[in-house]
Amino acid sequence: MGPYNPYSGQGGRPGGPKIAPELRHLKRLLSSDLEYHHRWQTHRFLDQDAPDGRWLRLGEPDQIAEISVVVGLHHYYLARAHEYTGRTRLMDSRKQLIKDIPKAELHIHIEGSLEPEMMFDLAQRNGVTLPYADVESIRTAYQFDCLQDFLDLYYQGMSVLLTKQDFHDLTWAYLLRCRDDNVVHTEIFFDPQGHTGRGVAFETVFEGIWSALQDGEQQLGISSRVIMCFLRHLEQSDAMATLEEAGPFLDRIAGVGLDSSEVGHPPGKFLDVFDRAGELGLKRVAHAGEEGPPEYVYAALDGLLVDRIDHGNRALEDPALVGRLVELKMPLTVCPQSNLRLAVVRDMKDHPIRAMLAAGLKVTVNSDDPAYFGAYMNENFNALVDAVDLSADEIIKLVKNSFNASFLDKDSKQQHLETVRVLVED
Ligand SMILES: [Zn+2]
Repeated sequence: MGPYNPYSGQGGRPGGPKIAPELRHLKRLLSSDLEYHHRWQTHRFLDQDAPDGRWLRLGEPDQIAEISVVVGLHHYYLARAHEYTGRTRLMDSRKQLIKDIPKAELHIHIEGSLEPEMMFDLAQRNGVTLPYADVESIRTAYQFDCLQDFLDLYYQGMSVLLTKQDFHDLTWAYLLRCRDDNVVHTEIFFDPQGHTGRGVAFETVFEGIWSALQDGEQQLGISSRVIMCFLRHLEQSDAMATLEEAGPFLDRIAGVGLDSSEVGHPPGKFLDVFDRAGELGLKRVAHAGEEGPPEYVYAALDGLLVDRIDHGNRALEDPALVGRLVELKMPLTVCPQSNLRLAVVRDMKDHPIRAMLAAGLKVTVNSDDPAYFGAYMNENFNALVDAVDLSADEIIKLVKNSFNASFLDKDSKQQHLETVRVLVED
């Protein structure tokens, strides 16, 4: 009998493992859509070879398929892969990619990361009475028919945020979620008018958020930028006063944004304050085309001179506008789960993210108000895999876009993109 042939299962030591069926199974996996994933997995296992050349076991034992062969006295491990079946297997490999790939988040309202549990804790700490009996009834209340439904509860939730420590704790909790989701850079919005309007000082809000972001950088290695949003349902004069108030903090504020109730409050209402922000050297972004028509997106581009559009879904209604956004390489910070929960899309299966990518739009995936919509970064990606069959290539493209569209300096962007490249190409 000749040496063991793993392809035929013939030969080798009598009684040795007959692994041909498993190896054929693995070859099938490698030649399918999973090829990329398994090459990568294999590489990662190799990286973790024990000194004696044997493979270390990763993950749950029953999730690992191990293919080994005994030749003479030597026990060779040829390959191992996660054991999956059918479609679940294909999706799981993409979800593993989503987990492992570093990402940037560019559209997150820090006040929208206030989880019901923390809302209750802070209410107790600060002696604030909430109109809910318990955490469950808060969650039950999170049923929204439109943006305004959500905003009403969003502003009510803010009422528990009073001290610098509250804003620190809120931001820190979000950063821990970033760490869990491998979000390595985040550009957070905050709504100063939502706090100053109820007697909380700008400084209290900003310093609380800032101290947590500093801790995030030092302890978690997560870099960040802060974007101050104006509430568009208020007057421009109010926004202008807020920009003045932010004066002492502007060296730590990357840009201004525009959020809250979109319809009826077009970008044109804020031309002067956005001009002023531009003069001050601040970046400019604005929510546009979430519920508002394509005209609002044009107005954000041409009136507010934005560096990014937040949402932008309704731009798809106007092919000429799509053409312009592509030509400008204008980033769109899309928020899938938010779109579903606020009825921008009826069903996640209708989400246009793949059409947006196919059209050449520079789209990114973001969580918006994760505590209210029940999904942080990776859950947003996973929902797209489940509902619209987002591919591995599309996931990688979205992640690259997130770094390219960030306000990081060129070198930092390159570093992150290089990390992504090494991860996905090996
Ligand atoms: Zn938003």
